[in-house]
Amino acid sequence: MDLLTVETFARPTDDDALRALQPTLGADRTLLGGGTWLFSVPQPHLAGVVDLAGLGWEPLVAAGDGLTVAATTTLAALGDVDPSSYPAWPAVASFRGCAEALVGSRKVRQVATVGGNVCLALPAAPMITLAAVLDATATIWLPDGRSRTAPVVDLVAGPQRNALAPGEVLRSLHLPAVALRARTALRKASLSPLGRSAALLAGRRGEDGFVLAVTASLPRPAVLRYDDVPTAGALAADVAAAGETVGGGWYDDPHGSPAWRRAMSLLFAEEIRRELGGTG
Ligand SMILES: Cc1cc2nc3c(=O)[nH]c(=O)nc-3n(C[C@H](O)[C@H](O)[C@H](O)COP(=O)(O)OP(=O)(O)OC[C@H]3O[C@@H](n4cnc5c(N)ncnc54)[C@H](O)[C@@H]3O)c2cc1C
Repeated sequence: MDLLTVETFARPTDDDALRALQPTLGADRTLLGGGTWLFSVPQPHLAGVVDLAGLGWEPLVAAGDGLTVAATTTLAALGDVDPSSYPAWPAVASFRGCAEALVGSRKVRQVATVGGNVCLALPAAPMITLAAVLDATATIWLPDGRSRTAPVVDLVAGPQRNALAPGEVLRSLHLPAVALRARTALRKASLSPLGRSAALLAGRRGEDGFVLAVTASLPRPAVLRYDDVPTAGALAADVAAAGETVGGGWYDDPHGSPAWRRAMSLLFAEEIRRELGGTG
């Protein structure tokens, strides 16, 4: 939809230009990623937007210590990464499943950005799921020209609430090599085949142990860690406990009841545990 109150539109084409605009960001001037959410609901408080699309950030940069994903990378581009291009990093195979967990057509995924998905901070945000299971670190540009880093999961304060300060820009996500070397498994439940995720769980098993990210069924992600694959009973107890505490408990919205989300999360946790080699 048209944003009728917007009077200024800036599309910086280099980092310095974006840096110069950052102090002007605030309640009435915001960043534009792909715009799939920004243009989908009225934004009567907005007088200006700063579009990140002209910056030309390299979508993926691989190095010895892992993979850096620019905030402007689209979900389609991430989902199209060919795992055979990264034979040392089996977890790259999880990119497609996570990208496709965003409901809607490929048309939406071709525009929606990784940064926009994280910053919107919906419980069903699949880029948060990916970041949570792979221990992604965010690089954030501060409006005073400095940068800071933080675990991506710590940017999620609650449904549609992120922990960025006014003027801060999410620049990129770094996926560490140790996590990328792991095997992964993903499960999603929604009330209809193309419905929004009500439970989206991802697991990884590698040299640093077993990690389970419980998302969509909770207001914010829960990340459970073990030295090795836990027993069925231990994992179920921890998932149930996370559901009582993290973010205020099992999430309740039109996409699923708390009781159903709890049941699906417990089922998926066990399926993931078994897929990644758990017995007993
Ligand atoms: C049909 C449809 C289905 C959808 N399904 C889902 C779904 O299943 N799960 C889900 O999570 N979302 C869903 N969405 C919502 C939304 O489209 C996605 O979350 C999408 O990934 C948002 O990315 P974007 O780049 O379009 O963000 P935008 O709409 O451009 O921005 C979203 C917010 O993030 C901020 N922002 C963007 N980039 C940055 C940055 N780099 N640094 C700081 N702030 C930034 C913006 O200011 C804005 O507040 C859906 C939308 C549609 C239209």
